[in-house]
Amino acid sequence: LEEARSRTGGAPWACYESSMTGGSPLEQELREAIRKSQLRLLYQPIVALPDGDLAGVEALVRWAHPRRGTLDPDAFIPLAERIGVIGDLGRWVLREASAQAARWQRRLPALQLNVNVSPRQLDEDGFAAQVLAILDDTGFFPGNLVLEVTEGAVIGERASVAQLAVLSNAGIRIALDDFGTGYSSLRYLARLPVDVLKLDRLFVAELDGTSRGGAVAQAVLRLGQILHLDTVAEGVESEAQARELTILGCHKAQGFHYAHPLTPADLQRWLPAGDLS
Ligand code: C2E
Ligand code: CA
Ligand code: CA
Ligand code: CA
Repeated sequence: LEEARSRTGGAPWACYESSMTGGSPLEQELREAIRKSQLRLLYQPIVALPDGDLAGVEALVRWAHPRRGTLDPDAFIPLAERIGVIGDLGRWVLREASAQAARWQRRLPALQLNVNVSPRQLDEDGFAAQVLAILDDTGFFPGNLVLEVTEGAVIGERASVAQLAVLSNAGIRIALDDFGTGYSSLRYLARLPVDVLKLDRLFVAELDGTSRGGAVAQAVLRLGQILHLDTVAEGVESEAQARELTILGCHKAQGFHYAHPLTPADLQRWLPAGDLS
């Protein structure tokens, strides 16, 4: 009941209604979408600075809705979290992405795969064990996987920290996503086994050539250097931003300046020639 209560925003009667009717139409459709494989993954290149060589890809989920067309994650990830199917969705994403990336690695062995993890997934017991089992199944090397976590209330919980520690010990790297936007970023840095900082695109957008504009980017990248973390700038849209990030010592970049999120067929063109069978 407690679960149902929090799901319905604290109104104990609302859950009866919702369980009697089985939830909203979109809710039922999302449950089906996961089963009927209506989800798709796009892959956005992450490149090394300053040369622009492909270093890795971030998997970004889409829902190929039969009537509404392609839906962006913002339209259904929060719903998936609320109705408790984010675990299923996340497992599908990791399995699909790691199987795909394992094939690409035959052409580019160092290729990194970044996968987003919702704070709600870390709540579930057995999350770490499931991740390792999926990598085992798909033959993807843990050392090439980066799990991107955003700060949320639960991430600081002891159980979530323990799950991340298990994964970190298995060689998987942990990235703090959207770094700098949350009020408690610095506290997470101390508590979690973090390897990568992803500088939020908000701060990249402020890189306009004035020293004031780049203050946060500069501070975050300096912090990354002090802690010996890998740094990735998000939302890089211009050559000028890429240049400034390079000067500030940022290691990698991702954004429309290099590539939009791509279908697997389009991403393949970024790989050196070779056998993908
Ligand atoms: P995110 O992890 O911060 O992902 C980056 C978002 O920025 C993506 O939006 C990407 O398309 C967009 N982006 C990339 N380069 C640029 C740029 O140069 N300029 C601008 N303005 N935007 C850029 P997308 O694909 O709509 O994803 C939105 C969010 O949905 C993601 O933000 C992530 O938090 C979440 N998400 C996506 N896939 C998954 C998933 O498989 N699982 C979970 N839990 N969350 C996911
Ligand atoms: Ca991300
Ligand atoms: Ca991000
Ligand atoms: Ca985001």
